[in-house]
Amino acid sequence: MKNSEIMAKSASLFINTYGRFPAVITKGSGCRLTDATGKEYLDFLSGIAVCSLGHCYPPVSEAICEQAKKLVHVSNLFHTIPQTELAELLIHNSFADRIFMCNSGAEANEAAIKLARKYSAKERYEVISLQGSFHGRTLATVAATGQEKFHQGFEPLPAGFIHAPFGEINSLKEMISEKTCAVLCEPLQGEGGVRPLPKEYLQAIRKICDDNNLLLIFDEIQVGLGRTGTLFAYEQFGVVPDIMTLAKALANGLPIGAMLTTEKIAAAFAPGNHASTFGGNPVACAAAVVVLQTMLADGFLDGVKAKGNYLATKLGDLAVKYPKIATKVRGMGLIQGLLLSPGMIPEGPKMINMLFERGILANFAGNKALRFIPPLIISNDDIDQLITTLDKLFAEF
Ligand SMILES: *Cc1c(COP(=O)(O)O)cnc(C)c1O
Repeated sequence: MKNSEIMAKSASLFINTYGRFPAVITKGSGCRLTDATGKEYLDFLSGIAVCSLGHCYPPVSEAICEQAKKLVHVSNLFHTIPQTELAELLIHNSFADRIFMCNSGAEANEAAIKLARKYSAKERYEVISLQGSFHGRTLATVAATGQEKFHQGFEPLPAGFIHAPFGEINSLKEMISEKTCAVLCEPLQGEGGVRPLPKEYLQAIRKICDDNNLLLIFDEIQVGLGRTGTLFAYEQFGVVPDIMTLAKALANGLPIGAMLTTEKIAAAFAPGNHASTFGGNPVACAAAVVVLQTMLADGFLDGVKAKGNYLATKLGDLAVKYPKIATKVRGMGLIQGLLLSPGMIPEGPKMINMLFERGILANFAGNKALRFIPPLIISNDDIDQLITTLDKLFAEF
């Protein structure tokens, strides 16, 4: 089949839930993808913050192949070696004592919501999340998501979710009632337009949770696992959550999710309370063990910080050079957003398509920012290629 035939066939077969780029991707290596016509793309999207070690990172691919020859699935009625190794790595390198494994981000957040409710008194079931947040596509995580556009057409949504205005600590305080059990937030909103929570704001949320006996849940599905320059984003805020969720980059491309918490909170779950058939699949876990070992090796996370600074500085220079197009850069480490000026917002999707035509993959987040989330192994030369391309593109506008 030819490239165009595959695209036409795919478009005719799938339920139309995705706006896809017109490309059939056939290969990936490092920071580059190749389509069926042989065209190469420099990837500042990483499969949406998933392939953090780059595409087909050889040690991960090897671990996948080796594990696939030994054991692919056995269910959680048994213990397995890759699961146990991964659990130990995540727990030893975080605040947590206990872990639950699943297959995706939404499932990790579902597990967190269920645990928060189970841990809290029966009449306390309400979760407060933030406006502009994104927490997933299942009904409960859609309800937790603080963006109207994800709710429309799916009402009535599950009860027990309310949204506090971003950045307003007093509004959040006023929303707490005898029904509240937890506050759920991303330390940096990814889909919401690359918006970090101010440090004092996050610290104030922690204090409110402590004062009111509420659980603080961090959704680190997008920003955890090295993306911000530390293994977990919370490390940079001086705030420790009670529950944390992970997914995206955990197995560098295989589906996996995890929910981590303390011994005390974990004790609310007993056998039979929660489960997942595929959760903590041996092949995904074998891949994730290599991901963590790689990220924890000397210098890796420092490299992310350095390259993140380089990317932010270069994007900042563009904002200065083209003040009518971009207003500023925001982000942490290698999740950076270039905010478009109000007049340029309608051009955002077009800019992304023009970048695509020029062989660069990125996306438009929160209807605000050109978002850059490259593999964490990106080089400064590759960053320069993005900047040169953007510079030319902005000059045309
Ligand atoms: C992607 C994402 C999710 C949902 O993860 P899925 O694996 O698509 O279910 C939840 N929260 C955040 C912050 C995300 O970026």
